Amino acid sequence: MSQIKAPVEPFRIKTVERIKMTSRRERENILQEAGYNVFNIPAEKVFIDLLTDSGTSAMSDNQWSGLMIGDESYAGAKNFFRLEATVKNIFCFKHVIPTHQGRAAERILFETLVRKGDYVPNNIHFDTTRANVEVRGAKAVDLVIDEGYDPDSEHPFKGNMDVDRLKKFIEKKGAKKIPLVMMTITNNSGGGQPVSVKNIKEVSQICKQHKIPLFFDACRFAENAYFVKKREKGYEKKSVLEIAQEIFSYGQGATMSAKKDALVNIGGFVTVDDDQLAEKLKNLLILSEGFPTYGGLAGRDLEAIARGLEEVLEEDYLEYRISQVAYLGKLLDKAGIPIFKPVGGHAVYLLADRFLPHIPRHQYPGWALTVALYREAGIRAVEIGGVMFAQKDRKTGKEVFPKLELVRLAIPRRVYTNAHLEYVAEAIIELYKNREKIKGLRIVRESPHLRHFTVKMEEV
Ligand SMILES: *Cc1c(COP(=O)(O)O)cnc(C)c1O
Repeated sequence: MSQIKAPVEPFRIKTVERIKMTSRRERENILQEAGYNVFNIPAEKVFIDLLTDSGTSAMSDNQWSGLMIGDESYAGAKNFFRLEATVKNIFCFKHVIPTHQGRAAERILFETLVRKGDYVPNNIHFDTTRANVEVRGAKAVDLVIDEGYDPDSEHPFKGNMDVDRLKKFIEKKGAKKIPLVMMTITNNSGGGQPVSVKNIKEVSQICKQHKIPLFFDACRFAENAYFVKKREKGYEKKSVLEIAQEIFSYGQGATMSAKKDALVNIGGFVTVDDDQLAEKLKNLLILSEGFPTYGGLAGRDLEAIARGLEEVLEEDYLEYRISQVAYLGKLLDKAGIPIFKPVGGHAVYLLADRFLPHIPRHQYPGWALTVALYREAGIRAVEIGGVMFAQKDRKTGKEVFPKLELVRLAIPRRVYTNAHLEYVAEAIIELYKNREKIKGLRIVRESPHLRHFTVKMEEV
């Protein structure tokens, strides 16, 4: 392992949080009690938690000190104006509306723009955007390029929209039925893969021709901008801030979960150009989130988001961030572990069906791998495969499985050291050596929606 270089952290550690290893026997009991569902495991019983990168970032001393100058006035808190100025500088839209997290931004945007029978194209919708589109009686359509679903393609921008399919889709359905086009940067559900500026420009031109607004699902905009700097011709010398500004210049607005690239534990916002739209969004915001200068957040939260948005664009941070995720990918790849390539911005994805070829899809190899990872090493990861996304055939009730059977190892920002990631890699390599011992599972109890959160399983 020593030939692969670990990235150097551009920070030192001022506060530590103890984590504790459990015994294998304890974990065996915990798994049984949890119905072999890692969502049911108390976080204290997890050694390395790679369930998600959402809201799990470590804040800096600068952000923590910002909490102390929270202005908790009901209206017009100074931290709102600070946040507004910071967001405007990066996103360059006229109105900034805070929300308690990303899905609240999505809900008020779609409730305002989307009607029954509409279509909303995206490269790939994230679960919450899909749900918030479909609850309106509209259809969420994924139009990512084919390479986006190919785990072996080394395309540098696998998050790109398939421009021809988008054109044809708009012509077929008619622009009147498409209230907006969205682009998710980076493409979370497609492996955290970036979108190129060239592709964004092309999509923007198509949208302009048809007078359809283009919005960004911008949760990981800084990671996306960094990939552009590293991979797209003509951007090597631009700052990531300039790249982000250029990206947003091609759209009319964005939704943001601050739990990702704003380096905080809670928060979000929606930012738009159109005055009338902003007015409507604020009216909805007041109903359920709060007054437009706080949107369900404390003044101190607004300050931490503003500071996080500045820190996330520091290029030494981004270099470390992207290299750390790549580092875990390289350790695994070098040992012959099947992973989705190239490694994206926030996570490494194991190809569970190749990892466990002896477990058929209806015994959920991805899920089995998350159980094995916890049992053997106290590591928590998430299945993105058959349990999460299988569709049931209406007539036969038989499960139709998604193309990819993945296990996501999401890396929280600034939280784990390289030694932690080496521990994770070693554990996975060890599991791979003994993979025939891993057993499939059957479902004991499930709920009709988002079953992965509550499903109970037993081993076959
Ligand atoms: C996390 C996420 C969201 C939703 O944000 P929440 O803050 O979890 O509500 C939306 N889109 C993408 C791409 C995300 O990663």
